[in-house]
Amino acid sequence: MRILIAEDERVSRALLRRALERIQHEVVAVTDGLEAWNHIVDESADIRVVIADWMMPGLDGLELTRRIRNAGFQHYVYVIMLTSRGQQQDINEGLSAGADDYVIKPFDPHELFFRVRNGLRIVDLEEQLAARNRELEQIAMLDGLTGIPNRRAFDQDLGRRILESQRYRRPFALLMLDIDCFKAYNDTLGHAAGDSALRRIAHVLKRALRGTDDVYRYGGEEFACILPETDEDGAMLVAERLREAVEREKLAHPGYRHGIVTVSVGVTVHRPQHPDSPSWIVENADRALYCAKKSGRNRVSGPTTATTTHQQAPTTSR
Ligand code: GH3
Ligand code: MG
Ligand code: MG
Ligand code: MG
Repeated sequence: MRILIAEDERVSRALLRRALERIQHEVVAVTDGLEAWNHIVDESADIRVVIADWMMPGLDGLELTRRIRNAGFQHYVYVIMLTSRGQQQDINEGLSAGADDYVIKPFDPHELFFRVRNGLRIVDLEEQLAARNRELEQIAMLDGLTGIPNRRAFDQDLGRRILESQRYRRPFALLMLDIDCFKAYNDTLGHAAGDSALRRIAHVLKRALRGTDDVYRYGGEEFACILPETDEDGAMLVAERLREAVEREKLAHPGYRHGIVTVSVGVTVHRPQHPDSPSWIVENADRALYCAKKSGRNRVSGPTTATTTHQQAPTTSR
């Protein structure tokens, strides 16, 4: 983080530099308002505190301050106006343009030092808050139990995938997976075992997918996978691979006649030629999932293909 001095008078500039000698941050000085603006918009310059003279060539301090306030930067820029214009009307105008502080020349170097330090404190607090917010935003997208992205992330990503699919004229697939007879799992083995099974299944699905595919905990014992650039044949293959991967784990499920934890999968494909709403895409996948459940569980059902019967239909406990 750097401090920018925008001051066209040489003596005043030298005084300012001296006043800020003890500041821990690098100080950059320019003599022109436009030059100051170019530094401020340059992200790599990382200017967070600006000490601006009012009367300068290029752009005056008032206009510079207005620009800073209207720019909508991601980070806060703290502005101190430093000017010989000491009329009440000037002070009001400077503050109303968006200056955080207003210092009248001639200034006391110690006072200015403290004012800059206060500005740095504000900027630092804002920085901490922004970092914490970014962290919370990430946490808000993850499921607390399994650690994979949650429903909120799914909704956001699905919307983005639809837009991408339209723009690049590429299909994508959505799989909805639901653990079979999971209520019975909890009933026979308890909720803690149920939780650990959910974590295990999430891990298995993640491991079985390609790096470009995403898996989400959609809710309860349901998972969703978005497969970019994937048509129906590809999606059916991936769905079958996931079903098998869960089966291969051989997680004992004593409350279920099949004896191990299995999943049913519904598959749908979004085609750019027929743009659908997010809710309609999810409904399609749900309908396919319902078919997979109805025709015996532990199986994959697609949009047009009949339910695949790689497995002998397990009898269910219900
Ligand atoms: P089906 O094969 O038709 O999907 O039957 P099911 O029993 O899996 O479906 P149902 O919707 O009746 O029950 C879902 C169960 O999933 C009930 C609920 O207790 C369990 N479940 C949902 N979320 C969690 C969770 O976070 N932890 C645990 N342990 N169980 C959960
Ligand atoms: Mg000047
Ligand atoms: Mg369910
Ligand atoms: Mg279920």
